[in-house]
Amino acid sequence: MPSLSNTQLELLKEADLESLHLSPELIAQIATLADPQQLTDEQLLEFLQVCNALYRSGEPLISDADYDFIFLAELQKRHPHHPYLETVEPEVVAVGKTVALPEPMLSTEKTYSQSGIEKWLSRLEKAAEDCDADFSTLMIRATPKLDGYAAYDDGKLLYTRGDGRKGTDISRVFERGLKVGGNGKRGQGAGEIVVSQTYFNNHLAEYFENSRNFQASIIKEKDLEQHALEAIQNHAAVFFPFSQLPAWQGTSAEVLADFDHVIETVYTSVDYDVDGVVFELVGNDQLKQYLGATRHHHRWQIAYKSNVETAEVIVLKVTPQTSRSGRVNPVAELTPTKLSGAVISRATAHHYGMVKELGIGVGTLIELTRSGLVIPKIERVIIPKEPQIPEHCPSCGSELVWDSDYLYCLNTTKCPAQIENTIEHFFRTLANVDGFGQKNRRKTPRLRHQLGLCRLSAGHGAIAGHGLWRQNRAKPAGSIATQQIRIHRRLALSGRFRHSPDGAGQLRAPASTPSPDGYFQSDR
Ligand SMILES: [Zn+2]
Repeated sequence: MPSLSNTQLELLKEADLESLHLSPELIAQIATLADPQQLTDEQLLEFLQVCNALYRSGEPLISDADYDFIFLAELQKRHPHHPYLETVEPEVVAVGKTVALPEPMLSTEKTYSQSGIEKWLSRLEKAAEDCDADFSTLMIRATPKLDGYAAYDDGKLLYTRGDGRKGTDISRVFERGLKVGGNGKRGQGAGEIVVSQTYFNNHLAEYFENSRNFQASIIKEKDLEQHALEAIQNHAAVFFPFSQLPAWQGTSAEVLADFDHVIETVYTSVDYDVDGVVFELVGNDQLKQYLGATRHHHRWQIAYKSNVETAEVIVLKVTPQTSRSGRVNPVAELTPTKLSGAVISRATAHHYGMVKELGIGVGTLIELTRSGLVIPKIERVIIPKEPQIPEHCPSCGSELVWDSDYLYCLNTTKCPAQIENTIEHFFRTLANVDGFGQKNRRKTPRLRHQLGLCRLSAGHGAIAGHGLWRQNRAKPAGSIATQQIRIHRRLALSGRFRHSPDGAGQLRAPASTPSPDGYFQSDR
């Protein structure tokens, strides 16, 4: 009979979940069965809350994948606009003192259609009538909705958003050199810690699964990891106050007259991850006050998010690709499927831990989602099959070694894929230098012999920072594979080649772009 640990029981008591109906026995059973279809809506929601509370306290009940792909996905399927999906941010618990925020950081009401914006504008019109304001001249401001790590800067301290009312003091990120975006001034209230997409693709994609992982690492880690520190020093990562964001401004009539264009302009106005456009009433504080707020959001503000499209797709095979760090990444080859206007034939499966855990192989039926122009992702596995996991490096044939969720080729000095991808990366960061354009880069295998670069260590990417997918998860340490990786890292550290942290020049280098079939080539 499955059961919760004493620590978990203790934490549940402390978590103070309002009127929990599920018994500890039932919670343990649901976790083990991982079959949410037989749960009622209430049970499912309670279970998610329990998982979230335990996860935040560092005693996770189920794996990330189970949480995202099984339980959260079920709620999303049943109620695509359920408040739980919108209010609870998958925020990493920051270490530090919990303090009351100077002012509450509410969520933003969301809509997925133009008609949702039209309805919001009619509500403003009605309120304007009540307040004797001229609706036709009211100004609406539209800003990008940053997809970063929300925080609040009161000039002295920086707080996490926490539950919106109480946050954690993370002022140490400023002590580490983090700058404020826009006019650079402290004390401008709410904003987000974000990282330049261009910089992330060129310098961090190798070490962090996504920018969210990276943002979390800036806040969380005791000793800042070298790549994160460089990103801060290069001002590629900043705290960006909302008030400093570039904005489109116009009347409600202008919003509706050119809606798609406004959305596109605002979406692409910053080089940070954006997951929507925030519309808000500006310039009439009396009306804003009249509109007020619910417990959840301000009524004078709304976020537009582009629709998420979903398709069920069959996996043809899983192809391993060796990156310059030696990490072997799984790419799921799919039955070509049209999604959000593009034909998708490949999707990344993050890592082989996920392939193994979820059963991704020939014939697996997956659910693929794509939101706007974002890279499509494997949302969940519907029908698992025998996972397709390579034993040998597809490039050099060396035996592969596991390190937590990742497979590695340890042949750092002779593996052609590692060497070529390193050189490719090296030249890409020099893209603007004469003689190192596209054409010459194709000649790199010959060039590297001429330059005597064959001895360079392609393994520097494995020095630190990989495996952050579970950085805050308890994990048994010291397996033989882990030890081998550590040795491998030390060897890599002694390599002759170190990639230059000269951020200013590198920021101009071209960003990785999604290829026509939507597969994101960040590691080539
Ligand atoms: Zn290899």
